[in-house]
Amino acid sequence: MRFAVTPDDVLARLAALRAKDAPTHGGRVLSYVYDSGEPALDDLAAAAIRQMQPVNGLDPTTFGSVAALERDLVAFTRSLLGGDDDVVGTVTSGGTESCLLAVKTARDLWLAAHGATPGAARPRLVAPVTVHAAFRKAAHYFGLELDLVPVMPSGAADAATFVARLGDDVALAVVSAPSYPHAALDPVPDVAAAASAAGIPLHVDACIGGMALPFWPDLPAWDLRVEGVTSLSVDLHKYGYAPKGVSVLLQRGRDRQRAQFFATTRWPGYPVVNPTLLGSRSGGPLAAAWAITQTLGTAGFAELAGRALRATTALRQAVEGIDGLRVVGDPVGPLLAVATDDAVAADRRVDPHLWADAATGLGWVLQAQPALRQGDGSLLPHTAHLTVTPVTESVLDELVPVLVAAADAVRGRPRPDAGDLVAALPPLVGAPDSTTAAAVLAGIGLDTSSIGDEGPGVGAMAPLLAAIEALPAPLAERLLVELLARLAEPR
Ligand SMILES: *Cc1c(COP(=O)(O)O)cnc(C)c1O
Repeated sequence: MRFAVTPDDVLARLAALRAKDAPTHGGRVLSYVYDSGEPALDDLAAAAIRQMQPVNGLDPTTFGSVAALERDLVAFTRSLLGGDDDVVGTVTSGGTESCLLAVKTARDLWLAAHGATPGAARPRLVAPVTVHAAFRKAAHYFGLELDLVPVMPSGAADAATFVARLGDDVALAVVSAPSYPHAALDPVPDVAAAASAAGIPLHVDACIGGMALPFWPDLPAWDLRVEGVTSLSVDLHKYGYAPKGVSVLLQRGRDRQRAQFFATTRWPGYPVVNPTLLGSRSGGPLAAAWAITQTLGTAGFAELAGRALRATTALRQAVEGIDGLRVVGDPVGPLLAVATDDAVAADRRVDPHLWADAATGLGWVLQAQPALRQGDGSLLPHTAHLTVTPVTESVLDELVPVLVAAADAVRGRPRPDAGDLVAALPPLVGAPDSTTAAAVLAGIGLDTSSIGDEGPGVGAMAPLLAAIEALPAPLAERLLVELLARLAEPR
């Protein structure tokens, strides 16, 4: 047949686009990407995806390979995470889908137990304020009241404060192992004991920690070994080193998990039985994760986690040695958050977002996280987030001097003040429409017609994050929706 463009030319275009992306390998981006530092694993994943490419994961009775790979992945993660024969599981498309399904399951079981219908009753979802945003999304999608519990300055939930929020109208309690923003390990055993006594299911969100914490030294119990933990999510596209699109949701008890499924025979097409949100789905990431777990085995993951542990320890020490910065709390797992050290004089303080921007200028990307006022009035400071991967250990000699130099470059400089920007906003009545939102974005220097064209990011993060904090959340959210929506509009 005649092609409009030759495959070679199309692939060359793709390569040109990819060349402008942030680097996915080599440890220079300390979020989003999880580089094992082992190119053989990437090659293996690609080969497995290629074999699985034409398969439809929708129907494991037609494509038995899908069921076989899923069984192996559930067995591998269940055994790693302390689950017994009563624990079953599902491979999903990612952490968000695992979290959504945990919430949907708990909601449906709560509604059934209370003889209620969706909409008529709104059960609560209780979680620390640091819980991943996927749970806000889940509460929004599935009609639960989100009850967010303030955390301690360390970023970890306080067990007594948390437990006091449990009650008969709670469909699900959620804690993190560890939390994404601060790498704080929530008090799983204490919360689990109270939840279990009250008959409330408890989800442990181990999306980021699940493949690394089993190899972390000196941790209290946090996984399915803890009685009272009824479900757990673990992402294989993070510290399972698989390409994006694969996570596992483990549930204690077959009957609990069956509530996760959707089935219907009441339409004129094929009988639909879906364990996940999607219908047709790729078998590629599943096959890649399967191939990697089979190849590495537990010992392989232990070795990679050891590298990440050594790198995290070294980075923590390096940051603690930088005047004006501090590590938040007592991070658990291969990630950490960095805040200003307010204990030193103002002229010695380092703002974490200015620091992150300075590091970006030197070729290393840290992630800026906003401050948050908690329900009890206390403030969680704005921070820079570092996700540490096995490859980080091999680039510490470059990274540590960059972190020091970036701090030296911005020490004593105050954070950008978003006050002027907010004052300069046009008067807005209600939610802005798309045209107005785009005009506001342009007014604060974000030109949606060119972002991403010349490389990663939207420019300096410090002023953007300051603006996000200063604006009313619904307005900031609407503006960011506009920004992202316009990126995908045909130009
Ligand atoms: C990454 C993450 C999620 C969401 O996962 P996605 O794979 O990005 O959808 C949920 N919880 C925690 C703690 C995470 O780190």
